[in-house]
Amino acid sequence: MSTETATAADDVFAELVGQDAVVNQLRSVVAAANPTHAWLFTGPPGSGRSNAARAFAAALNCTEGQGCGRCRSCRLVASDSHPAVSLVSTENVSYRIEDVRDLISTAQDRPQGARWRVIVIEDADRMTERATNVLLKSIEEPPPQTIWVLCAPSPADVLVTIRSRCRHVSLRVPPTEAVADLLVTRDGLNRQQAEFAARVAQNHIGVARRLAGSAEARERREKVVSLPIRVRSASQAVLAAAELVSVAEAEAQAEAESRLAQEEAGLRRSLGLELEEKIPPKLRAQFKRLQEESARRAKRSVTDSLDRTLIDLTTVYRDVLSLKLQAGAELINEHLRGDLEQLAEALSPEQSLACLDALSDARIRIRQNVPAQLAMEALMMNLIPRRHRLR
Ligand SMILES: [Zn+2]
Repeated sequence: MSTETATAADDVFAELVGQDAVVNQLRSVVAAANPTHAWLFTGPPGSGRSNAARAFAAALNCTEGQGCGRCRSCRLVASDSHPAVSLVSTENVSYRIEDVRDLISTAQDRPQGARWRVIVIEDADRMTERATNVLLKSIEEPPPQTIWVLCAPSPADVLVTIRSRCRHVSLRVPPTEAVADLLVTRDGLNRQQAEFAARVAQNHIGVARRLAGSAEARERREKVVSLPIRVRSASQAVLAAAELVSVAEAEAQAEAESRLAQEEAGLRRSLGLELEEKIPPKLRAQFKRLQEESARRAKRSVTDSLDRTLIDLTTVYRDVLSLKLQAGAELINEHLRGDLEQLAEALSPEQSLACLDALSDARIRIRQNVPAQLAMEALMMNLIPRRHRLR
C-alpha cells in the first residue's frame, strides 16, 4: 500500500492543463465542502469540459483527500464506473423528454456509499426548450445530495432559465505550450513531436494526444489536409469526398476501440483484476455495459469524426489566408508550406474566405444529419480553385 500523499501535481485535476483559474475555483469549492447544486461548465471543444466535470465529481467524492486520483472512488470515477456519478451524452440531435425524466429520477436516488450524486450532462446544448423545462424544476430544487453539472460550448448555448440558476465555470482553449508540456510529461513524447501534435490539433488535447501517439492517426490527418492541394476537377472532388468519409469512419472506429480498451483497463483496475485475468461471471455484466455503451457511442462518433476532418481542412485555408495576407506567422501546417504556397497562388483572398464559408456550411450540414457523402461532395466542389473550375 502506498502511503504517499497526493500532491497537487498528481491528482484528478492534474490533466486540466492551462486551466489554472478553473482548477483553483473547483479546488476551493471542494475544500469548502458545501457546493452549489447546479453548475454550467463551458468551453470550446477540446478545452476539456467533460474532463473538468469528471475531475470535479471525483474530487467531491474522494475518500482520501480532495481528489487524490488513487482511492477506489477516484478510480471508479476515472473509469466512468462510479455508481453515484453519471456522465450523460446523447447520440441524437437532441435529448428526448423521456431521457431527461430518467435523469431526474436518477437525481432523486440517494448516492449509496458516496457523499454526492453527480450528474454530468456533457452536451446540455442539445437540450430542447421542452426538455430544459422538465429539467428546470430539479435544478431549482435539487435533492440535497445531488449536484448537476451541465456542459456546453458557451453560456449562450443553454436557455437563460437554466443559465441563471447555475454557477458558471469557463474553460479556455489551453495554450500550445501547455498542451505540448502535458504530452511530454504525461505521455513521454519528445518536445518536437509534442509541439507538432499540439499545433496541428490546434491545442485540442484529445486530438493532440491521439496524433502524437498513433502513426495511423497522423497519416489520416495528412491525407485529409493534402486533399485540397490535389483536387482540381469535379471527378476528383467526388473521389476526395469518398476518401474524407472513409477516413472519418476509420478514425471513429479506431477511437471507439481505443476508448473501450482504456475503459476496460480502468474497470479492471478498479475491480482489482489483472490485465489478462479471466473476468468472473458475476462481474461480466459491468463489462458488457461498457461494450454496449461503446456501440451506442459509435454512431455519434462518426459525426464527430467528420466534424474534426472538416476542422483539419479548415486549418489549410486558415494557413492559405495567412500566406495571402503575408502575416508572416508560423503556419498551423508548417510542414506543408510549399504546397500551401501553391494553393495560395491559385486562390484570391475572397476565394479563400469562400472556402472557409463552405467548410463551415459543411459542418452545419453534417450536424443536421445530411448524408455525409452528399455534404462532402458539395464541399469539395466548392474547394476547387476557380481558375481550374472554369476551364
Ligand atoms: Zn480519491
